[in-house]
Amino acid sequence: MDRLDPLRLTDTLSTVLGTSAKPLASELGLHTVGDLLRHYPRRYVERGQLTDLASLELDEHVTVVATVKKAVNAEYRDRRTGRKSLRQEVVVTDGHATLQLVFFKQRWIVNKLRPGQAGMFSGKVSAFRGVRQLAHPEFRLFDGSAGPGGSDGSGDGDLDPDVVLSFAGALIPVYPATTKVQSWVIADAVRLVLDQLAPQLDDPLPVLLRAEHGLSGLREAFQAVHQPRSREHAEAGRSRLRWDEAFLMQTVLARRRHAESALPATARVDPGDAILAAFDERLPFALTAGQRRVGEEIGADLARTHPMHRLLHGEVGSGKTVVALRAMLTVVDAGGQAVLLAPTEVLAQQHHRSITALLGDLAERGRLGGTDIGTRVALVTGSMTAAQRREALLDIGVGDAGIVIGTHALLEERVQFFDLGLVVVDEQHRFGVEQRAALSERTRQGTRPHVLVMTATPIPRTIAMTVFGDLETSSLTELPAGRAPITTHVVDAARAPRHLARVWERIREEVAGGHQAYVVCPRIADEALPPETLPPEPGEDSGPARRPGAGVLETAELLAAGPLAGLRIAVLHGRLPTEDKDRVMRGFAAGDIDVLIATTVIEVGVDVPRATVMVVMDAEWFGVSQLHQIRGRVGRGGHPGLCLLVTEQPPGSAGWERLAAVASTLDGFELSRLDLEQRREGDVLGVKQSGTKSSLRLLEVLRDEELIAQARAYATAVVEADPELAGEPALAAAIAPLELATASEFLDKA
Ligand code: ADP
Ligand code: MG
Repeated sequence: MDRLDPLRLTDTLSTVLGTSAKPLASELGLHTVGDLLRHYPRRYVERGQLTDLASLELDEHVTVVATVKKAVNAEYRDRRTGRKSLRQEVVVTDGHATLQLVFFKQRWIVNKLRPGQAGMFSGKVSAFRGVRQLAHPEFRLFDGSAGPGGSDGSGDGDLDPDVVLSFAGALIPVYPATTKVQSWVIADAVRLVLDQLAPQLDDPLPVLLRAEHGLSGLREAFQAVHQPRSREHAEAGRSRLRWDEAFLMQTVLARRRHAESALPATARVDPGDAILAAFDERLPFALTAGQRRVGEEIGADLARTHPMHRLLHGEVGSGKTVVALRAMLTVVDAGGQAVLLAPTEVLAQQHHRSITALLGDLAERGRLGGTDIGTRVALVTGSMTAAQRREALLDIGVGDAGIVIGTHALLEERVQFFDLGLVVVDEQHRFGVEQRAALSERTRQGTRPHVLVMTATPIPRTIAMTVFGDLETSSLTELPAGRAPITTHVVDAARAPRHLARVWERIREEVAGGHQAYVVCPRIADEALPPETLPPEPGEDSGPARRPGAGVLETAELLAAGPLAGLRIAVLHGRLPTEDKDRVMRGFAAGDIDVLIATTVIEVGVDVPRATVMVVMDAEWFGVSQLHQIRGRVGRGGHPGLCLLVTEQPPGSAGWERLAAVASTLDGFELSRLDLEQRREGDVLGVKQSGTKSSLRLLEVLRDEELIAQARAYATAVVEADPELAGEPALAAAIAPLELATASEFLDKA
């Protein structure tokens, strides 16, 4: 096709590929020149380097490089017509293993696929009489000739089948492909596009940045990635394009931080002689150095006339609640209100109980016997009676309730605050970014509340910089003094039933000593109901076939009738009515219940100091960070904690190893890193992989931590100097579509 103008990234593919562009769009979602050039090869093969055929998985769409071993015609009877026909059976090999290819009624295949000839074969792996095969695959031989399907130059496009695989010595790119669009079809399209691409592309990376880090231009990078001269050449291109991803993402985040910090908020300054001061005076323990330091950071933020956006993350049990409460009291003392959002009712109720208890008569203002300095603490959950709710909402509306505690039900309703000054979100990993934004809308006169987000999953720096990249961060790494250590063991329930019996004996001993125990199960009931938790890596964790995890109800019945007979046992799970949940938690906190058998509703935040034993049934159903969270429920009251991870997975299996890792350290940061390493990138970023394409193609958040940090520093500087990016038009154009996306889509599209 003759074109006068050189191609730009925004040109549509049909202008250069004609109708051949169609399958690229429908199969792979590639519409523009830029889309195609950012569809990077998955790997490269060298001529003569064959695919390991033994490693192919059933049902996978594969592109393999192999040599023909033999090709014969074989007679068979067509089931529909009853007539005899010829089938072509071809065997290809990598030198060791073989793979069968089958074609139907295409005699010419046997002449074409001569023994010794090498090529690429593409199709879905199936099994026929126990032999793995590709049925009617597409192929292209290294002499340039094509297979039976649409890619044999049949004229409906400009793709030239004879070139790509024939340039000597080159690395052959293998693209993510589908049955309808083979890897070499993509390579052909890329070649056509690169041939006509403008010599100078609008480069989103600032010139200085490229110079500083020795990065090539965009066009060179595309060339290197798609048509590399060597592996080093390809890698140079990839590292430049990785910069694109990191830098664009960080520029968007920097702009978001910049815009938010420019919004107006009411400054809330601690007067020094009101509730907070009285509270500090009667606090039964000394704050840790970390709690004091973070308290000062937050105090300084609150005193500004722009909204705080801070993430407080810290080790399980490091005392985040007190830090949050002191921040809330600062705001109340300054005349505003604060709201604390919890992810579950159990947690909201516990916060309400413990905060009211910590405040004592400081929480009884306006009631008989209350002090004259103080406030009220309102609880709003989804399941209050109409009368309770009316009273709470009234207290909130007139400003009598300085502190409001609730679940996200609070977000969904039109709760009117008198003067909302601070939003604290506990256990952020359960809250969407949008929800955070929804609450930010609820203030007077267009000002924004300050926002403090807390999470007990320690967040590695790299995640803080990406997923939470629009927040400033504080962390609490030390535990309050006097915490007794927690010991963790993995218990082999299948091979050592004696050990399991010992587990129940240990619980009886602890209870006899005045302590309490948790038993956590992956499900509510053994059958019927879906699990409350999903296995960390369904399907990938190839241990022996797993039965469904233990259910709370059956386990409770079993234990009550047998090993724990006579103890006071209660169950707690997500499907109990709220009053029951509250009653059980109260009973457990008061020591009226010895053993609490629960799902992960107790995973986060629950704080009962007398509990010393945590037994997790079928522990392999839980993720590493989740187990660390669950374990953090014991060892809180100065008595040593014991955590027993029960599993039927055999020692040495992936499931067992994960549990052993949890047992080996109490460092939440280390575990959360391990957790992330075991997940796929999309999950790391909190984006479901299903259906959507992940945006980060070359960037791997964990591996590329240093690069992300550098990109973040550079992006912050660029945005601070030139918030509108007037001096970087290509950068501004590249981030525009990303900025339109909502927060969570953003990581998808970046
Ligand atoms: P987390 O950070 O996991 O949310 P919590 O805020 O629930 O931890 O605190 C755990 C326990 O430690 C609570 O019982 C709390 O009262 C107590 N605590 C908090 N700070 C201190 C401190 N400085 N000294 C002693 N105990 C503390
Ligand atoms: Mg907590």
